[in-house]
Amino acid sequence: MPDAVSLIQLKRDNVRPLTEAEIGWLFAAYAAGEVADEQMAALLMAIYFNGLTPTELRAWTGEMIASGDRLDLTRLARPSVDKHSTGGVGDKVSLILAPLVASCGAAVPQLSGRGLGHTGGTLDKLESIPGWRAGLSNEELVTALGTVGAVIAAAGSGLAPADRRLYALRDVTGTVESIPLIASSIMSKKIAEGTQALVLDVKTGSGAFMKQRERSVELARTMVALGAEHGVRTRALVTRMDTPLGRAVGNAVEVEEAVQALRGAGTADLMEVTYALARAMLELAGIDADPGQAIGSGRALDTYAAMIRVQGGDPDAPLPQARYRREVLHAPGSGWLTRLDALAVGVAAWRLGAGRARKEDDISHTAGVLCLAKPGDYVRAGQAILEFRADDPARFAAATEALDAPDVITIGSEPPPEVPLVLDDVGA
Ligand code: URA
Repeated sequence: MPDAVSLIQLKRDNVRPLTEAEIGWLFAAYAAGEVADEQMAALLMAIYFNGLTPTELRAWTGEMIASGDRLDLTRLARPSVDKHSTGGVGDKVSLILAPLVASCGAAVPQLSGRGLGHTGGTLDKLESIPGWRAGLSNEELVTALGTVGAVIAAAGSGLAPADRRLYALRDVTGTVESIPLIASSIMSKKIAEGTQALVLDVKTGSGAFMKQRERSVELARTMVALGAEHGVRTRALVTRMDTPLGRAVGNAVEVEEAVQALRGAGTADLMEVTYALARAMLELAGIDADPGQAIGSGRALDTYAAMIRVQGGDPDAPLPQARYRREVLHAPGSGWLTRLDALAVGVAAWRLGAGRARKEDDISHTAGVLCLAKPGDYVRAGQAILEFRADDPARFAAATEALDAPDVITIGSEPPPEVPLVLDDVGA
């Protein structure tokens, strides 16, 4: 019979991989309260340093999935395909992509969490729409998928509950940034959700969780392998996150921009990432459709309106607006904007009230940042690059401090080179 201390020592000293039976015992004992949080935290730290072998990771993820319900979407007439992003600044792609891909004939079961830190959460954004609610029962979810084709809803507490406990423990013990722990956390929830196929947007760069491309590719490969092992066709695009995606960063402001994109007026960078992910999702779902045509014909926008209505929201209602606006970050000289740092803008939006520091914090639906200029634009000396929005003007000072670092913007005498946003395609 294994015991927690022996398993911690085995992993700490890298003696040998843990067996499937040992990992099974660990999760059962943890759920039963026989393994304490401090023992699990010590093991997580040992994994942080020494990793998990592919066989260990497969068993670990399997236990996380088995800790709760696994939805069955095979009864749907449409093929199911979901997308998950590791999180970025101004990343409103899900709001466009879910109705877009659904309007081409797929079922998109987007079960999401809330934003934490400087990257926003899709549910927080949608909750700025009057009447919209994130909670759906499993029956409501399956019905909406069958009719509208797209659902963006809160993941129920029954999906991978072990992840919720482990994530809370990792958050307070400095063990979040471990590739096998991130991969198992994300993939256990997506596999439990029952999707047949999955496209991952693994962000890389200053505004991403993973700053280095090699680490992002390693995370992408790890998740693609886990998906395949658990019967979910999975592909991952590694995409740049050095500057905010689109122009808006926040909640209501991002919904507004997503609707503009569905009307055919999205910025080039936002649409480049959206279309690349849409094509990958449609390919995995075996659907031959042109996502550009779905936007051009208005079909994707109609599906968006239906998706919002089915969850109680009014897609035509005006979105709440912030009471205070302030232009900030003035160009020190004339020239081409060559850099606008995603992390600084994300932190500013967060300090304006758009994001939360702790799970229980309230957020402001109206707070955020608008990028008045983006890299590649010509700016004149003194021109404001950003506009802050907040309900509480006292927040402007702390948000402005987030921009007080070298290289938040750079201005050059030549336009920046055009670089593709999709850097790697893993599992294609
Ligand atoms: N998102 C998750 O769901 N889990 C992680 O570990 C990191 C990001």
